[in-house]
Amino acid sequence: MPTVREIEQALFALAPKAGAMEWDNVGHLLGDPEQSVTKVCVALDITEAVAREAIENGCELIVSHHPVMNCKWLPVQTVRSDTPQGHLLLRLLRSNVSAICMHTNLDVAPGGVNDAFAAALGLEDPGPLGDPEGLCRVGTLQSPMPLQDFARKVCRDLHANGVRFAGCGKMVHRVAVGGGACGDYEDWAIAAGCDTFVTADLGYHQFLDAAGKGVNLIDAGHFPTENPVCARLISYLTEQFPELTVFKSASHREVIQYYVEGE
Ligand SMILES: [Zn+2]
Repeated sequence: MPTVREIEQALFALAPKAGAMEWDNVGHLLGDPEQSVTKVCVALDITEAVAREAIENGCELIVSHHPVMNCKWLPVQTVRSDTPQGHLLLRLLRSNVSAICMHTNLDVAPGGVNDAFAAALGLEDPGPLGDPEGLCRVGTLQSPMPLQDFARKVCRDLHANGVRFAGCGKMVHRVAVGGGACGDYEDWAIAAGCDTFVTADLGYHQFLDAAGKGVNLIDAGHFPTENPVCARLISYLTEQFPELTVFKSASHREVIQYYVEGE
């Protein structure tokens, strides 16, 4: 069976470490590199529920997108059982479960987060948007459609609980996508001649200014826009290591619910 180290090497062949942002923390972050692996759980995030699921299923390894520790939003100063993060890390370590995290390097990688996102929406001729980090993709719909219809399509294609959107009056045809919080790349989408930008974690003012800037904005949620990459990770790992059992976490789902008045 492959070791954690060998699986990390294979994942870096898919999404080279050099692609990660300097503030990021990617690769094998937790556990024993020489541990041999029979079962892998794949999830967007390593939550307490995902850790429990991996342990109960006899996994030696969790492969996630978001880093389990020490990136921008999760500095680790202590590992104590009386903090939520410490509790999680201790639980994984005590159960000999390793964590490999492929974050911004997987966002930019060909076949990574944003290619999977563009494919989930069925965008034709997907290619790089040209943003400085190389994160976003741009493609076209087979034929233009009204924003309302496209919003429904995005919601269904991504299995989201709902989407938020604001229109500029244009039909949807040339679409830019950025999985997760890519709102900062809106101007690149406009410069590339896109009528529509689909991303996540957008704020009030960005929606308010969209009409004036001449772009339709759709916020389809962080989880739904990044989740398509999990299936890609599973098929890649299964291809590289046919002897491994690789499965998608069943416990990690979108947590955000929408209440819509009048429904
Ligand atoms: Zn993300």
